Amino acid sequence: MPLLINEVKRKLSYSMSEEIYITIIGGGVIGCAIAYEISKESKKNIVIIEKNNQIKGENQSSRNSGVIHAGIYYPKDIEPLKARLCVEGNSLIYEFCNKYNIPHKRTGKLVVATNQLEEEYLEDTYRIAQENKVPGVKIIDCKEVKKLEPNVKALSALYVPTSGIIDSVSLTDKLYRIAESFGAMFLVGNKVVQIEPFRNDFQVTIKSNNGTEVFRTKILINSAGLYSDEVAKMLNSGSPFEMNPIKGESAKFYRTKREEISINGLNIYPVPFGYILDGQRLNVHFKEFQKLYREGKISKSVGVHLTPTLDITGSNYSIGDTVIIGPAYSKPNGKEDYKPTRDEKYFLDIINPLFPYLKLEDISLHQTGIRAKLKDHNDFVIERDPKYQNCVNLIGIDSPGLTASLAIAKYIKQLLEK
Ligand SMILES: Cc1cc2nc3c(=O)[nH]c(=O)nc-3n(C[C@H](O)[C@H](O)[C@H](O)COP(=O)(O)OP(=O)(O)OC[C@H]3O[C@@H](n4cnc5c(N)ncnc54)[C@H](O)[C@@H]3O)c2cc1C
Repeated sequence: MPLLINEVKRKLSYSMSEEIYITIIGGGVIGCAIAYEISKESKKNIVIIEKNNQIKGENQSSRNSGVIHAGIYYPKDIEPLKARLCVEGNSLIYEFCNKYNIPHKRTGKLVVATNQLEEEYLEDTYRIAQENKVPGVKIIDCKEVKKLEPNVKALSALYVPTSGIIDSVSLTDKLYRIAESFGAMFLVGNKVVQIEPFRNDFQVTIKSNNGTEVFRTKILINSAGLYSDEVAKMLNSGSPFEMNPIKGESAKFYRTKREEISINGLNIYPVPFGYILDGQRLNVHFKEFQKLYREGKISKSVGVHLTPTLDITGSNYSIGDTVIIGPAYSKPNGKEDYKPTRDEKYFLDIINPLFPYLKLEDISLHQTGIRAKLKDHNDFVIERDPKYQNCVNLIGIDSPGLTASLAIAKYIKQLLEK
């Protein structure tokens, strides 16, 4: 059970300590994974402060596509942390899921090229996958695609066997419960509103419905998701990072409704492409895309894709009937603007080139999430604050943050041990 501040204080006084050793701000999948990893071996006081009233990953950690990424999208020289932590996180997440019976499935993925321009992008994705040492990736022709997914239209495709799906809420919940059983204290319904340096420590002010409280901590970990840029600036107003949040909307259909819209259960993606802020696709030749991307002028998107879901009954789970189409990107009005702006026709048109037999009446709207995308920066930012070395910031942990969560947690533990 998450705690109240006076319960945290009582626990601290039992352990004869005046202060909290490590404070983690944000109880999404990243904060919970870090709490899990650190509390496994440390007897130090660890408190996780979460502004929502429960640890349920209510922000990005539940409003995502639930795809276990393989690590094929991130060039090492442009996005080194995503490249490394996604591939590492991929195998860690399967290991964790098998150990704790977290609903998941290694479905495999097809990245589909439907014309010659897209084949250029496919070649490049294959190159990145090889550079990142993603196992088992191969280019297959349209006949092989048909054998795997008969209703997908493709000229050729990349087959990625280590891609999968996961119930992200179950993952976050398990990490939280294990960390709590190791002694980590989860304080919910409390928002961090001020952080000040205090001698060698930090003084943190939190606000809840019951008023404000102040406590001291030796180490601060900022894993506040969409608000991580603001939290970093609370301590150091010179922190250069600024969020440029992206809304991702999705729709759904039922794969057993008609034979020609059934899928066997692979993740089915278009080729990754450049996009501009309103979600528009940039239809340029690959070399031009590459130049703009390297200059940081555009972001790369994995594109609107088809993702199977899991049916979960008690401790049993299997691939369900519902297939998600998304995320379709647009610019939100603020960090929690979950209002849908795309209609069913948008999803039909965008998925049609690779999945042509869907009809408008098959589609209904599903959910909206907001990605913690950074302005002018594509990689994760995971670093100590330059002025206050005992504060570690995790900023811009957008996709593939879910996949990378356990690898990020190990990375943080190593950083703290240095
Ligand atoms: C539409 C979409 C699709 C995605 N698809 C995938 C995918 O298929 N695969 C994948 O690997 N990744 C995917 N991602 C990315 C993934 O979901 C995120 O990288 C991951 O969930 C980030 O977790 P987090 O804990 O950093 O952030 P969050 O889940 O946002 O958690 C941050 C927490 O910090 C709390 N907080 C913020 N400010 C404060 C404060 N001042 N005080 C106290 N608490 C605070 C918030 O309440 C929140 O609970 C997707 C994301 C989106 C939005």
